[in-house]
Amino acid sequence: MTTLENAKALGYTGLTEKIQAAGLKEYGLYPELFMDKVYQANAKEGDVFVYAGLNNADVDGALLELLRICPEKVFSGIQVAGMLTGAAAMFLYLPEKETELTDALRKTADEYGVILVNDIINVRETEEDLRMHLVTAADLADLVDGTYEAGVYVCTAQDALKKVPADTKIGDLVSLDGAKAVWLGYQYYTPEEAADLTAADAVNGLIRVLSDKECIVAETAKLLLKDRQASCGRCVFCREGLIQLEYMQKEITAARGKAGYLDLTREIGEAMNPSTLCSVGQVSANAALTAITKFPEEFEAHIKKNKCPAGACGAFVHIYVDPQTCTGCGDCVDVCPAGCIDGKPKFIHMIDEFECTKCGKCIEVCEEEAIVQTAGKLPKLPNRLVKVGKFKKH
Ligand code: SF4
Ligand code: SF4
Ligand code: SF4
Repeated sequence: MTTLENAKALGYTGLTEKIQAAGLKEYGLYPELFMDKVYQANAKEGDVFVYAGLNNADVDGALLELLRICPEKVFSGIQVAGMLTGAAAMFLYLPEKETELTDALRKTADEYGVILVNDIINVRETEEDLRMHLVTAADLADLVDGTYEAGVYVCTAQDALKKVPADTKIGDLVSLDGAKAVWLGYQYYTPEEAADLTAADAVNGLIRVLSDKECIVAETAKLLLKDRQASCGRCVFCREGLIQLEYMQKEITAARGKAGYLDLTREIGEAMNPSTLCSVGQVSANAALTAITKFPEEFEAHIKKNKCPAGACGAFVHIYVDPQTCTGCGDCVDVCPAGCIDGKPKFIHMIDEFECTKCGKCIEVCEEEAIVQTAGKLPKLPNRLVKVGKFKKH
C-alpha cells in the first residue's frame, strides 16, 4: 500500500490521533505541534494550500539531500498533509538556484500531484495555509507507514546526511580537536560551547567545524552574501541590513575595516530580527553577531593589526620573489595571468603587488621555490631589476 492509502485506511480521526500520540512537531526553526498547524489551516475560510520547503533562512540547504535520497517519502508526507487539510493544491518550494534538482524531481512531483516552485516561501501570503518543513513531511510519511523513529538529520564534512538521536553530543559527531569555531544552527560557537550542544541544535542539519586556516570574517562575509541573495527584499531591515552587514565584513577582509564597524554590525544585526517577516531576516544576522561576540580578536587583528590570523584574506597576504633564491629563469612570467611579474633572463624577478591577484600560479611553477607567500612583513626587496647574485641584503 502507498503512504496515502495507509493514511486513508486510518481515516482522519485515526490519523490525527496517531500524529498527536507521537507528538510530531514541525521541523526546523519553528517547532510547533504539527497538528496545531493543521487545525489552524483548517480554520481558514476558502481553499487551503500546503506549502512545503526548507526554512527560508536555510541557505546551506543540507536538508535538501532528503529530496535526493528519498523524494517519494517527502512527496508522500506532503500528500498526507494535503489529505488532512483537504488542500486545493500542494507545493514544494526549492531554493531558486536548485534548478537541476527541481528538474530531476519534476516527474515524481507530478505523480504525487505536488507543484514545484523555485523560490522562498512568501510567509505573509501563506499565513493561513499549512506551511511545513520538508523534513516534517518525511517524518509524517514515516509515521503513517509505521517506520517513524524520532531523531534529527545532520551532516558533517565527514558524513553524509543521516538521522541521529536528538541528544547526540556534537563532540560525538565531529572532531573538535584543533577547531577554531563551529558553525551550526545559524550561529558560530567556540569549540568549548559546541562540545555541550547536541544534534538538536543543528536545526538546518549542518555541522561545520572551522580550522585555524579559515577566517571567521571571510566566512561570515560569504554567508551573508548567500543570505542577501536569498532575501526577497520585501522587508527593509532584511534587504538593507544584509547589504550593510555583508559590505562591512567584506571591507574588513579587504583591509579597509573601520573600528566603528563592530558597533554598527551589532546595531543592525539586533534590529533585523524583530523587524522582519521570515527566517531570512530573523536569523541571518546571527552569523555576524556571534562572530563579533565570540571571536572579537579575529576582527581586531584585521582592523587594528592589519593581519588575518588565518592567513586566508588576500589583502593581508604578500607574495614576493626572494632575491637570494631567484635564478632569473622566467618561468613565473609565463604563467602569471595578471602579467605583473617583471624580469629578464638572469635578472632577479619582481612582482608588482598592486596588480597581483594572489592566484599562486607562480608559486606552483617556480622550481627554485623562490616565490614566497607570507602574512608577515616583507623583507628588503630590489626596487629595480638587479642581476642574479648582485642584490645586497643590507
Ligand atoms: S525577512 Fe522579509 S525581505 Fe527577508 S526574505 Fe523574509 S520576507 Fe523577504
Ligand atoms: S621567481 Fe622562480 S620562476 Fe620566477 S624567475 Fe625566479 S626562479 Fe624563475
Ligand atoms: S600570484 Fe598570480 S597574479 Fe600574483 S604574481 Fe603570482 S601568478 Fe601573478
